Amino acid sequence: MNTAATKEKVFYLTTPIYYVNDVPHIGHAYTTIAADVMCRYKRMQGFDVFFLTGTDEHGQKIQQSAAAKGLTAQELADRTVLNFKDLWKALNIANDDFIRTTEERHEKTVQAIFKKLLDQGDIYKGTYEGWYCVPCETYVPESSIGDEKICPDCKRPLQVMQEESYFFRASKYTDRLLEYYENNLKAIMPRARYNEIVSFLRSGVHDQSISRTTLTWGIPVPGDDRHVVYVWFDALINYATACGYIDDPEKFRKYWPHVHHLMGKDIIRFHCVIWPIMLLALGVTPPVTVFAHGWWTVEGEKMSKSKGNVVDPFKMVELYGRDPFRYFLLREVPFGLDGDFSEAALVGRINSDLANDLGNLLNRTLQMIESYCGGVVPAAERQGPLEEEIEKFALATLQDVDDRMADFAYDEALKTIWAFIRRGNKYIDETMPWKLGKEGASEDLNRALNTLYRILHLSALLIAPFMPDTAVTFWHQLGYDDDPQARGLAGFDWAAVTSGQKVRKGAVLFPRIDMAVWRKEKDARDGAKKAQTPPVASLPEDDDSKHEPLIDIDAFSTLELRVARILGASEIEGSKKLYKIAIDLGYEKRTIVSGLKEYRSPEELVGKRIVVVTNLKPAIIRGVESNGMLLTAGDGKEGRLALLTPDEDVPLGSRVR
Ligand SMILES: [Zn+2]
Repeated sequence: MNTAATKEKVFYLTTPIYYVNDVPHIGHAYTTIAADVMCRYKRMQGFDVFFLTGTDEHGQKIQQSAAAKGLTAQELADRTVLNFKDLWKALNIANDDFIRTTEERHEKTVQAIFKKLLDQGDIYKGTYEGWYCVPCETYVPESSIGDEKICPDCKRPLQVMQEESYFFRASKYTDRLLEYYENNLKAIMPRARYNEIVSFLRSGVHDQSISRTTLTWGIPVPGDDRHVVYVWFDALINYATACGYIDDPEKFRKYWPHVHHLMGKDIIRFHCVIWPIMLLALGVTPPVTVFAHGWWTVEGEKMSKSKGNVVDPFKMVELYGRDPFRYFLLREVPFGLDGDFSEAALVGRINSDLANDLGNLLNRTLQMIESYCGGVVPAAERQGPLEEEIEKFALATLQDVDDRMADFAYDEALKTIWAFIRRGNKYIDETMPWKLGKEGASEDLNRALNTLYRILHLSALLIAPFMPDTAVTFWHQLGYDDDPQARGLAGFDWAAVTSGQKVRKGAVLFPRIDMAVWRKEKDARDGAKKAQTPPVASLPEDDDSKHEPLIDIDAFSTLELRVARILGASEIEGSKKLYKIAIDLGYEKRTIVSGLKEYRSPEELVGKRIVVVTNLKPAIIRGVESNGMLLTAGDGKEGRLALLTPDEDVPLGSRVR
């Protein structure tokens, strides 16, 4: 982080306000979990955090569905808002405020802002003209109308309508906003979205119609009751309302300079064009960062109600627990890229990352502390070279996680944490405490167990923002009675982790899920839909001796294949076959080791787009850490080997299926 603002250790983060009439799905859960993790992390780093979420409750659709149900719009909103509030409880979201746009504090703020902009001449009255659907009582945006000019909802013909409207003079501030973006390269992240918005701004922004006379469910325009404020103008202001723009100027002065907005990429035009222009017109600094994350498909398909594949976050929490669900969403896909949700991949992560890596490290260590030290953490007399290396690794991990989180690179932060956890498991293999115990080498044994305990101590703190419940259980098993999040990460001191705690070995944190049993249950849940799929894996079990064993699609989907570009290839000392190859995955750069030296010169490789297996465990090959494997075809005889390369110019990091 590089701004003076961040040094003040104040942090304000928002999710979008969700449309109250929507049924909460994985997309809502994703944004809100990401926001929650970031805020918990910042709190642990000693930041004064303000975390806001809420609901957008005005507009035509609410008015119509309320009427259809025989309710007032307010009654409908009061009911449906609970869908979101309940989900945030189920997902352990620790927001500081929940704003509803029907609240009085918000109405007051919207009207005050409208009046100020009107008084200073940035709002004026004009005529709005657009394609209107009479049965739906709504204007249909130009972008969703085809040549036949029919309503995308009811398929009836549209007509051109005109009405009196107030307009916001957005055009006046376009240059100032461009200048702001030129000076603040992280004001929109990731970079692809930044570029998209800047080029959109360069093409010019029209003044925006911001009131309607065709509906009543909205905030009245001050001094002109025939108009209500158009819903997005009203909605965007929520971020200022909750921060005390009108009610609490001191709060606003404190948090506003540190405001960050998280959202899906579909709504960034409002947030990166209109909203900052509104702020500039008010004399308020635009947000520090608007971060736009990608979209989820479900098992390779676009999520839609008609396909019946909408992922219900309540169901996922019920089936797998909220911590694994939180972990999976942030670990599986780089924040900012599109991702694919599959329960099989979620189960894969539970078994490998959570049960195998994290759970095992805890269980094995506590078991050994019980067996050899009566359950009391032993003191270490002095550090050996291995322990010094691990201490360095620990401190580097802390710094690395902090750097990644500063860029909202949740998946990278988790990879870094897991590299540390895996280092712990490797340390067990290196020191073999059971052998030391048998040999009576108590000084070495104590040092090993003490070091493992420190690794667990730091691991519990690092996972706490992502998996708050797990961290508490973990912490308790380590013999602590306080709250790991309250303990925090700021000023963490490896040397200050003491001995003498009485550990409490408890239940296994993440029992392994038996894939065969899970598959049966999933099929039963999916019912007829799954029964129709061809029986690819139904060969008799003893018949695969002569064949390659068949796998099902879920086994294949555990492979993470992505498109990368080769940045450079260099020799590895003493190796005739291997290159050290630098690759760019778009969201990160990596090194892999590959046996291409006999087939290609470095110059032939540079710039090539290739396919890489990105979720291989790292391996040290000839002293070089290799993180992944590139795909080739052919047996390499007679100097012939083909590199797999995509035939379309897809973005780096694209998933290969
Ligand atoms: Zn219609």
